[in-house]
Amino acid sequence: MRLIPRHLVVHRWCPAADPASLEPIGPSRDGILTHLARPETVAAFRKIADAARREGIELQVIWSYRDPELQRRQFEEARQKHGRRHGIRWLAPPGFSEHQTGWALDIGDASDAEADDNPLFERTPAFRWLKEHAAGFGFELSFPPGNWQGVAYEPWHWRFSGTESARRAFHPAGRCAWSVWARSWLEALRQII
Ligand SMILES: [Zn+2]
Repeated sequence: MRLIPRHLVVHRWCPAADPASLEPIGPSRDGILTHLARPETVAAFRKIADAARREGIELQVIWSYRDPELQRRQFEEARQKHGRRHGIRWLAPPGFSEHQTGWALDIGDASDAEADDNPLFERTPAFRWLKEHAAGFGFELSFPPGNWQGVAYEPWHWRFSGTESARRAFHPAGRCAWSVWARSWLEALRQII
């Protein structure tokens, strides 16, 4: 059960990666861009992609690191397209996106481009495989159906939390949790005022 108002969407504050520390993780589907991620995300993705490939599934990186400035532009576009209340369910405000951490990935199925970055991804063998095996490689689904944060269900969006610092960022504890969630709630409220 969700105990906060329906229109309030709480994106967790996340630490931004140092762009200089990022490494290539794979080309975009159209081959125009090379996506970047933290080295540990790249290594973990290589392992999970190899394991999936052995079972005939080709994982495709749709998006990984996104810098806060691009996030700001895309957030504005989403708000214009879907309206203030709904845009934020799909895209985090700048500073609050897991994509700025270098640990988050949007994953697609190489055999099904139509399902990229949309709920159709649920129909793909890649999604079924990830659901079963991702945890073993340190990946978790960030926004499951009905999540308390109010973020739209994103079956394609996975985060790597297999290191201590990533785990702390995504599952803040103790005093750190206080400041992370205070910032996150303040931003959520600011967005609806
Ligand atoms: Zn994403």
